[in-house]
Amino acid sequence: MIKVITFDLDDTLWSVWPVIAAAERRLHDWLELRYPRITAAHTPESLRLLCRDIAREQPGIAHDKTRLRLSALRQAAREHGYAEELAEPAFEVFYAARNEVTFYPDVLAVLEDLARDHTLGALSNGNADIHRCGLGELFRFHFHAGGVGREKPDRAMFEAALARTGVSPGEIAHVGDDPYHDVKGALDAGFRAVWVNRTNAAWTETFQPDAVIPDLTALRAAIETL
Ligand SMILES: [Mg+2]
Repeated sequence: MIKVITFDLDDTLWSVWPVIAAAERRLHDWLELRYPRITAAHTPESLRLLCRDIAREQPGIAHDKTRLRLSALRQAAREHGYAEELAEPAFEVFYAARNEVTFYPDVLAVLEDLARDHTLGALSNGNADIHRCGLGELFRFHFHAGGVGREKPDRAMFEAALARTGVSPGEIAHVGDDPYHDVKGALDAGFRAVWVNRTNAAWTETFQPDAVIPDLTALRAAIETL
């Protein structure tokens, strides 16, 4: 019997790229007014590519999206003759917008329903803040890769949820859109794995999720079969 349900966030509860793109534009607008030498040299996209380059140069922090953004902003400041300290307020502009998510229409009613008889939590490789996103009342815990130090499918993420809830792995269902990060990670940890396939994608992996749902409206029924 499932007692705890953990959720991936990005692309499971909301579409992430519109949010990131809007946050990057807002950051760029903010920088343009205050640090125009940076925006003369960088588009929003090229600032994002700086994060990717830093992740390649420093694989030890590649899982931590917040550190990557801060490092990229410090590097851009140095390269264009500004103080590195601009990184923190600049990141805050980005981060406020990054948390202005638009839930898929099926999400909130289902979470409110499931929260009545299950413990809900989040396991995310991204850096969304459940409190700023409006999930603080529904989710009892949230682990993200930057805080845990490893990203899904690493067991450490799933073990964090086990340690927090004190249930056995077979009593937790993990719900997510990514076959590798979410489904493989959950199965490797002994969790039940629910694949949210919003795009009607083909399943191409050798392992199999325990349930497949097109959106969260089918989640309670799926959980009851596990
Ligand atoms: Mg996802």
